[in-house]
Amino acid sequence: MSKSETPAATNFLRPIVQADLESGKHAKVITRFPPEPNGYLHIGHAKSICLNFGLAKEFGGDCHLRFDDTNPAKEDQEYIDAIKQDVQWLGFQWAGDVRFASNYFDQLHDWAVALIKSGDAYVCDLSPEESRAYRGSLTEPGRNSPFRDRSVEENLDLFARMKAGEFADGARSLRAKIDMAAPNINLRDPILYRIRHAHHHQTGDKWCIYPSYDFTHGQSDAIEGITHSVCTLEFEDHRPLYEWFLAHLPVPAQPRQYEFARLNLNYTITSKRKLKQLVDEGHVNGWDDPRMSTLVGYRRRGYTPASMRNFCDMIGVNRAGGVVDIGMLEFAIREDLDANAARAMCVLKPLKVVITNYPEDEVQLLSLARHPKQDMGTRELPFAREIYIDAGDYEENPPKGYKRLEPGGEVRLRGSYVIRADEAIKDAEGNVIELRCSYDPETLGKNPEGRKVKGVVHWVPAAASVECEVRLYDRLFRSANPEKADEGGSFLDNINPESLVVLKGCRAEPSLANATVDDRFQFEREGYFCLDSKDSKPGALVFNRTVTLRDSWG
Ligand code: ATP
Ligand code: MG
Repeated sequence: MSKSETPAATNFLRPIVQADLESGKHAKVITRFPPEPNGYLHIGHAKSICLNFGLAKEFGGDCHLRFDDTNPAKEDQEYIDAIKQDVQWLGFQWAGDVRFASNYFDQLHDWAVALIKSGDAYVCDLSPEESRAYRGSLTEPGRNSPFRDRSVEENLDLFARMKAGEFADGARSLRAKIDMAAPNINLRDPILYRIRHAHHHQTGDKWCIYPSYDFTHGQSDAIEGITHSVCTLEFEDHRPLYEWFLAHLPVPAQPRQYEFARLNLNYTITSKRKLKQLVDEGHVNGWDDPRMSTLVGYRRRGYTPASMRNFCDMIGVNRAGGVVDIGMLEFAIREDLDANAARAMCVLKPLKVVITNYPEDEVQLLSLARHPKQDMGTRELPFAREIYIDAGDYEENPPKGYKRLEPGGEVRLRGSYVIRADEAIKDAEGNVIELRCSYDPETLGKNPEGRKVKGVVHWVPAAASVECEVRLYDRLFRSANPEKADEGGSFLDNINPESLVVLKGCRAEPSLANATVDDRFQFEREGYFCLDSKDSKPGALVFNRTVTLRDSWG
């Protein structure tokens, strides 16, 4: 599959926005991306970011970044900073300042008071457990709270005292008075305000009551003039409530909510809560562990913003859901790196080769193209008497059709000469620890006379190469649906114990000593790699494998 063959992905929201602009319903499209700052963004959020910022970009509108920060206990400035960085890394910029739902707490409070005054809200003293019991179920209607018919005066007084901090967490709440028998449970007198004596990262200790998500989201959209409020399908049943608030409050605009199917990717967890658990319990080395499905993880692993955006384009936007194969994400990054990553050689399991007929003190500088198709210039590679090839490229008892090095056989060194294996030196246990070879001086850039040499292997000069560490990453989970654990188990039981293999003492070609974290490489015959942004140091290089050359899973 190449890019040109991938089907043009559909986005059902595009024609809706277009029609609203053509009909004059909206002069300008305004969308928003509303993360809760309670964790790092993951690949699912990338879909939402590309969708919201993408629609605004395509139709000449704006997209806001608004932190949905109504739950101070779980939120943190660390997450706010990381989320801003992730959005920009993906290549998007929000219009105006970063916004916070907490910017609107005063207005939301006034609107809550307005609902009390119009008889549409009341203070309820049921405990959270009692409220649950009163709420009913999908098959049974709820029951009215015994506090539902309090007078407006009493409600105003109690709500003011909730705000003043007179009551303990959970002792009372403010609820909308809608319909306890509504088939849609979200309309059974939903909570507008909870008591929570908690410090807030934006508003400090100003508030000890906090609005619910439902009471915050639509009104924030209205305040910001959002035209198309796009969210995932779990919120479809909240839409009647979203609209109820807009209809019962003097809001400045009437945004409309649309739902799309969230991204589910096989072999991958896309839940902040579970990702946090992986971090907190030490199953991975932090949010930016290159095996994580977080954007910081993909970034450290070497994924490019362009490959992420292409992936989101490929999967499209619809309401049907389903599970996307992780192979599509890997296809997107391979396609980008094949076109744009410089070629280099790195020997992961070095086996020393002494070329016995090459003069001891001679070094020949070879010049190799950095890319087979793009003009990226060349790099110099010294050829000398001692080199390394990969231990896996020599086989004493090769299977039929083996194209690499075998006793008495020949192979071409990439960009260099043809060598023949004359003798293998072994240790006491019989392991091959060194090869004695001879080279054919007539084969630089030429086929040898009178015989065919099929195999090509990568190599580096022994003295001039750079020792490095290489980290091979694989899927973090063994099973396609990690959340569906075996009986009684959890997604943690599906962790792939071989998801990280660390190789030390690898040897990289000399030009790699100058690599920077922004560089991407194809290590010939090994895969795509980049420097680890955290652990790599000059003189102690660490490379991460972004993705293998081909899909070799299963
Ligand atoms: P999680 O389930 O991981 O906790 P969330 O929905 O609680 O995610 P938010 O910070 O509230 O996380 O999400 C911000 C936006 O990203 C929301 O509009 C949400 O719908 C969207 N989003 C979250 N997960 C996905 C997903 N898997 N696919 C598409 N959009 C998503
Ligand atoms: Mg959420």
